[in-house]
Amino acid sequence: MIYLDYAATTPVDQRVLDAMMPYFREVYGNPSSLHRLGQKAEAAVDQAREKVASVLHCKLDEIIFTSCGTESDNLALRGAAMAKRAASGEKWILTSKTEHHAVCKTAEQLEKEFGFLLEWLDMDQYGTVTPESMRKAVCNQTALASVMYANNEIGTINPIPELAEIARVNNILFHTDAVQAAAYLDLNVKKLGVNLLSLGGHKFYGPKGVGALYVRNGTKLIPHMTGGGQEYGLRAGTQNVPYIVGFAEALRLTAEEREKRIAHVKPLRDRIIGEVLETIPDSQLTGHPESRLPNHASFVFKDVDGNLLLQMLDSAGFACSSGSACKTGNPEPSEVITSLGYSRDWALGSLRVTLGVDSTPKHVDSFLKSLPELVEKARKLNQR
Ligand SMILES: *Cc1c(COP(=O)(O)O)cnc(C)c1O
Repeated sequence: MIYLDYAATTPVDQRVLDAMMPYFREVYGNPSSLHRLGQKAEAAVDQAREKVASVLHCKLDEIIFTSCGTESDNLALRGAAMAKRAASGEKWILTSKTEHHAVCKTAEQLEKEFGFLLEWLDMDQYGTVTPESMRKAVCNQTALASVMYANNEIGTINPIPELAEIARVNNILFHTDAVQAAAYLDLNVKKLGVNLLSLGGHKFYGPKGVGALYVRNGTKLIPHMTGGGQEYGLRAGTQNVPYIVGFAEALRLTAEEREKRIAHVKPLRDRIIGEVLETIPDSQLTGHPESRLPNHASFVFKDVDGNLLLQMLDSAGFACSSGSACKTGNPEPSEVITSLGYSRDWALGSLRVTLGVDSTPKHVDSFLKSLPELVEKARKLNQR
């Protein structure tokens, strides 16, 4: 099997796994316990927090460990929206249709169940939220804006420093979902200028089921997990010590090896984009042609059932993704692709190919050799 789905998840780096192992059976204390075994576990969590803070260029108490990227997004949106409304009465939330469900479903719930007002930010044809669309949408009742750093389905990178600056001058809290971006982009929160930033471990060779939220000092949140005083009172529950250790080591390695990893995937990615567009009729790149993640290629093929294509690719030995939330029998195009303005006959045929540390030129050769035939076959079946 050739794995081309690194945007969905990544294997755990062996060095990360090695760092985690002692915390299952040797240093298994509860970080809140006062005895030495507890203190050792607490020291491990402290050290992990230092590693994360050093990558983000922030203070230790600005890092909150969570159970995943989704939880970080939930805590950021719900926690900040509620705290801001309590303090100021502001009720408007700005976000975009290309956000991960962890953000847009949370925003929709805040509107539906909690009395907030939601405005979808305009995007350009590549799914970019531009500074102009942000400026157009802000008003003096805006509590919070949430715009992702890089998109998981179409790879587009948003101009976060510019957007965050517009939020700052208008006294609006700014959150960015950096879960997909973290593997390749700079996470310096000073440069980004955000109040809140979400991370998830399994997108950068860390374990699944662990995440972090950066909360800039002074940004008030209402916690959604109440209980013990862990994580500065913002996320109760005994910390998952081995996973937090793994998360931090994976992030440290990612920052250290970023340039090398980009240099590895980008030429492979460029070959995929170039050859697919050249050899496959009625194909288009989705997302931004330049301002996109270096490991990310995404396409739409006209009159192709994306799910069928994925099954055919799977049978041929390739693990890819569509980005479409199709259910068998009732195919619905992805909301992200649809929001870019593609008609149904294009939007249903989406394909995402994402590379990573174990991708090789051979993998890419073999994929590019197989794909045109499979698209052709899927198209024929679509016509019947
Ligand atoms: C994967 C992903 C998430 C969800 O993270 P989990 O750790 O899987 O919960 C959120 N946002 C983006 C952009 C993602 O790519």
